[in-house]
Amino acid sequence: MITLIFATNNQHKVKEIRSVLNDRFNIITLQEAGIDIDIPEPHDTIEANASEKSKVIFNLTHQNCFSEDTGLEVKSLNGEPGVKSARYAGDEKDFQKNIDKLLLNLKEKENRTARFKTVISLILNNQEYLFEGICKGKIIDIQKGNKGFGYDPVFVPDGSDKTFAEMSMEEKNIFSHRRKATDQLISFLNTL
Ligand code: IMP
Repeated sequence: MITLIFATNNQHKVKEIRSVLNDRFNIITLQEAGIDIDIPEPHDTIEANASEKSKVIFNLTHQNCFSEDTGLEVKSLNGEPGVKSARYAGDEKDFQKNIDKLLLNLKEKENRTARFKTVISLILNNQEYLFEGICKGKIIDIQKGNKGFGYDPVFVPDGSDKTFAEMSMEEKNIFSHRRKATDQLISFLNTL
């Protein structure tokens, strides 16, 4: 059994990752590890923010851990919201306000191509490993569905005509950026 602290406070992400991991892995949330902090995301790349999160937790606990950072990159907005995805419309990290701002900024734009990018930073036995997952798709102009979180109601992945918010967890996992990055993490862990 490999125990790893997942450096997040986002229960949706924990649920998604647990749904694809087998019994060999024991995933502990920050809360379960007794850590109550809002981990900073001060950098201007998704990679650097993922690294920062796992290093903060490793320095606190000296236990094997991983973090992930995700951003939604919209082509016609020059990659925004990107690293600002969580706080796009303000520090309160309000999903609905973020969607409203995104749809407003895209109102006059013809190109609605977007992609989610996830980077996982694993710290195992004092060494860092990075894994990446990308999901390409587009932003539609009205919200559909009520599952998932974040930008899910306006994101339709390539190869589907449903938004992520209209999909079950299993369906979302067929396309998901986080799933792709997690698959790489798992492949790596399976080689140990
Ligand atoms: P974080 O900084 O990795 O927590 O992610 C930044 C923001 O990206 C989140 O607050 C969500 O708004 C958004 N986000 C991350 N993953 C997803 C996803 O799978 N679906 C929709 N939005 C997401």
